[in-house]
Amino acid sequence: MQTRLARNAGFCAGVRRAVKIAEEAAQEGGRWYSLGPLVHNDAVVDNLKGKGIIPVNRLEEIQVGEDAGVIIRSHGVPPETIEQARQRGLGIKDATCPLVTRVHEIVASLRGEGYEIVVFGDASHPEVKAITGWCDNQARVIASVDEACQLQVVDKLGVVSQTTKDGEEFYAVVNALLPLAKEIRVFNTICSATQKRQQAAREISLGADLIIVLGDPKSSNTATLARECKNTGVKTLQIRDASEIPADCLSGVSAVAITAGASTPDWIIKEVLDRMTEFEEKSQQELEQEATSEQDIKKEEETTNEVVGAEEAVGQPANEEEREESFAKMEAEMADFETPGRGDIIKGTVIQVQDDEVMVDVGGKSEGIIPLREMSLKDVNSAKELVNVGDEIEVMVLKWDDDGSILLSKKKVDTQKVLDKLSEDFNAGSIVEGTVTGTVKGGLLVDVGMVAFLPASHVEDGYVKNLEQYIGKTLQFKIIEFNRNKRRGSQIVLSRKELVAEEKNRLKKEFWENIEEGQTRPGRVKRIVDYGAFIDLGGYEGLLHVSEMEHRRVEHPSDILNEGDEIDVYILALDHEKERVSLSRKKLLKSPWEIAQEKYHEGDIVEGTVVRIAPFGAFVELDPGVDGLVHISQMANYRVEKPEDVVSVNEQINIKIISIDPEDKRIGLSIKQVQEEEEATEVQQYLEEQDNEEVE
Ligand code: SF4
Repeated sequence: MQTRLARNAGFCAGVRRAVKIAEEAAQEGGRWYSLGPLVHNDAVVDNLKGKGIIPVNRLEEIQVGEDAGVIIRSHGVPPETIEQARQRGLGIKDATCPLVTRVHEIVASLRGEGYEIVVFGDASHPEVKAITGWCDNQARVIASVDEACQLQVVDKLGVVSQTTKDGEEFYAVVNALLPLAKEIRVFNTICSATQKRQQAAREISLGADLIIVLGDPKSSNTATLARECKNTGVKTLQIRDASEIPADCLSGVSAVAITAGASTPDWIIKEVLDRMTEFEEKSQQELEQEATSEQDIKKEEETTNEVVGAEEAVGQPANEEEREESFAKMEAEMADFETPGRGDIIKGTVIQVQDDEVMVDVGGKSEGIIPLREMSLKDVNSAKELVNVGDEIEVMVLKWDDDGSILLSKKKVDTQKVLDKLSEDFNAGSIVEGTVTGTVKGGLLVDVGMVAFLPASHVEDGYVKNLEQYIGKTLQFKIIEFNRNKRRGSQIVLSRKELVAEEKNRLKKEFWENIEEGQTRPGRVKRIVDYGAFIDLGGYEGLLHVSEMEHRRVEHPSDILNEGDEIDVYILALDHEKERVSLSRKKLLKSPWEIAQEKYHEGDIVEGTVVRIAPFGAFVELDPGVDGLVHISQMANYRVEKPEDVVSVNEQINIKIISIDPEDKRIGLSIKQVQEEEEATEVQQYLEEQDNEEVE
């Protein structure tokens, strides 16, 4: 007879976690009570009772005291129960399955957003009671499509499921609900542990003559599992443990498939497998006995009077050690799964993501947990920022206990990958990219996938005064030291010095290949000195002398330029040998005379300042750098002996432009004509006033 154990059978991660929390509580000491049986399995509950975990139905049954505490089972409880426990001063250990907690969060949030809530499940199941408690007991619990059809039409409907329900049934219920709401939000909260056990049971049912489903009759997921098995058409037997295997159930059976609900402990599965081995051995003995008897009869027939005592081929019952071995072997063979060891890197699929942990299906009987601190090299507030349900990820095994608790790390895999790559880059002398994250004594910290150190002397190819300016910048580096050390942490030292120098040389070469006198180039004011400013032309620096800054006289370069200013400059002269570049800014600016030519016209009357007096007239400044001459003959409409008789230096006067000579940069001005025009205007005004009086 062949016996096969389903790949996924027995304790799920949630139940295993709850039992572990209870066992740890028992070890801590004090009086611990579970609110309701910790799991729906009497054998497990009795076992825990033996360790001091007493199930109670109500908090009131617990005699309060400093040493008393309550364990919330994997099904969870309504929030008011936790509050009551607090008010009674009880210690609390919350073993609610994280997947159930997620349902609580969903319904609470839906309720907050004004949705009517439907829970597909069994109203009397403690998990469902707890779920409704998390939405102020306002949820409608329905158990079938018929019940779904009886609901009234609403605006907004949110739908969740009891975690252990059947997926097909849930979809049918959702289908029935669709026409009953204008807006409907559906959350598939069915636990994959249940689905995986059902799938694994279907797989091993192929070719089996009998399926044995192990689990307590009170267990909802065991009942669903048994129903699934029956649906395969294979004869199905649901029993609590090995003692319930009917003596005659294996007659005529050549292949037995065994599965177990999520609340069935390993030891019950082991007992049943042992019993199967016994049956197998027994039936083997019987076969051998039958064969021996046949041979004896034959021999008897052949040897007539000679009676030969046939040796009984009775096999020794397997001792405990052999049974253990057989169980382990069978379990491994049946599950076709090799238990990974600490430090092994394996692949897994994310099946649940919470803020503080991620549950991963790694192909074993139980799911693994990655705590948030083991999720990433970077600091994040929630695991939801990193992975999604369905993602396939690589994880390192930190712990894989026989009891099925699996602790994983994604961060350690990421660390190894980053270190492998950095080691490769270091050996090859490759360039790596990183972001400067902060300053420390003597340098900067750089994120290159891992935190690396950049000494201050390696930031540039020269001294750097202000290291803060690099924070937040993404730059390129070379790794100059790389020490991989698991215990004390790996040390990575970076440098930019060489890269900066190389880049400067490249830009300089490119600059001298392309630069020509007469070009206009964009530049950035790098440094200001008394005699000018050094302009970075993107690879090389040129000097902009103070005399080349503007057409007018500039007292100091800082009067018109600041370090960091972006300006255009004219390439005035190049000295390839000495590698010097002379620049001009004023070449690109209009001269005062060019501006004056556009601004002033003959006949214009403008204001000017007398700047100098000569025997033949007075010089008047119209704009900085633009002077005109009022000849002595144009100073007044009478004969002027000396210009000083009419004007004085710094006096503001009105003058008329009477000639412009752009070639010789000369402007002829007249005071006399301004006066004549004023007088003419006055006469005109007088005559007009007279005319108006006569008319009146
Ligand atoms: S069946 Fe799923 S939801 Fe229920 S306790 Fe187990 S892991 Fe949690």
